[in-house]
Amino acid sequence: MTRFDLRLRHPEGETPILVGDGVLADETGDLQEWVLQRRVFVISSPTVLGLHSRVLLPLSRQAAWWHVLEVPDGEEAKSFGVAEGLWGEMLEAGGKRDSRVIAFGGGSVGDLAGFVAGCYMRGLEYVQLPTTLLAQVDASIGGKTAINLIRAKNSVGLFHHPRRVIADTSLLKTLPGEELRSGLMEVLKIAILSDPELLSVLERDLDSLLAGDSVGLAPVVAAAARAKIDIVERDPAERQERMLLNLGHTLGHALEAALDYQSLRHGEAVGYGILFAVGLAEKRGLPVEAAIRVRQLVERFELPRLPTLEVDTLLRLIGRDKKVSEGGWRWILPMDIGVCEIVSDLTEGAVRQELGAFLARLEASS
Ligand code: NAD
Repeated sequence: MTRFDLRLRHPEGETPILVGDGVLADETGDLQEWVLQRRVFVISSPTVLGLHSRVLLPLSRQAAWWHVLEVPDGEEAKSFGVAEGLWGEMLEAGGKRDSRVIAFGGGSVGDLAGFVAGCYMRGLEYVQLPTTLLAQVDASIGGKTAINLIRAKNSVGLFHHPRRVIADTSLLKTLPGEELRSGLMEVLKIAILSDPELLSVLERDLDSLLAGDSVGLAPVVAAAARAKIDIVERDPAERQERMLLNLGHTLGHALEAALDYQSLRHGEAVGYGILFAVGLAEKRGLPVEAAIRVRQLVERFELPRLPTLEVDTLLRLIGRDKKVSEGGWRWILPMDIGVCEIVSDLTEGAVRQELGAFLARLEASS
């Protein structure tokens, strides 16, 4: 079995990140010591528990007390009500400052569990065992945790790094195709941002990766994780460079909000956001060959069609996004494969015009 041992250095210390097909069964030794004689809270969702709870059995035998706290599948988990319910359950069960939290699920579970662990008694140690591709390549890495306010995604949260991340790609075998597609879009994002070699791998292997080849996914997850680690290490608090990871997210988040977080997955929305950013970037010098490569790759993802959307609605939602600073709108634009820029001099008029044309093109092609 090929395993990839990565490490993220950050202001709180270091987080080892282990990636590979079947690594969770292999690695429970270290985790066993971490849970030994402790009270452990596993935060997970019904789908993940139904499919994969067995892999945690060896670990559960080492803990003094083992509590499985179930939260809803998907984005619904990231609410204040769910977090408050978890804190209540943990308190009632006797959770102390040295209790442990395990996030076992996709990015929604990971964001929620990290937030809950970070706030409970001013911070419990936790580990991330991500079970979706998106969580393995992105959400579990970098210490960002959050819950949503109504129609304002990720607006309450904190930086709280996990003690360890174990990304076992064998868990992805049960992942529905759309979730794989959503995660692979984040891989594409990071490849455009900083890894031309990874972009070539996607061009070559996208079809088998979309079909869920878990052995083939392991090196791709590791490459994407490594690229994210490099960026986060240089800018842990997201003052500048880390913002680049928001490529495709400015429009992406607005699309998700416009569709009530129902009909478009996060990565799918990011896919549309990347296409839009490419359009904006072409006007500022993105070479046409690079634009074509990105468009052709996004096309192969066969994104779900968008319903008719109003430019004004999207502009309003973009204005509400937390990536908009007091100083104005910021756009992450690809200027070549492996080179992106943060641009803050685009006027609302220019964005309005480009967005109108973008939506019209999408509508004409559907
Ligand atoms: P998700 O967590 O909502 O999971 C999607 C669905 O997949 C859920 O229904 C879940 O139950 C199911 N699932 C999970 N693992 C499975 C498995 N192995 N087999 C079958 N089904 C499985 O979606 P996601 O795409 O993983 O995460 C999206 C969230 O991540 C968003 O809330 C987003 O804001 C967040 N995010 C956070 C960061 C960060 O840095 N913290 C970065 C990117 C995204």
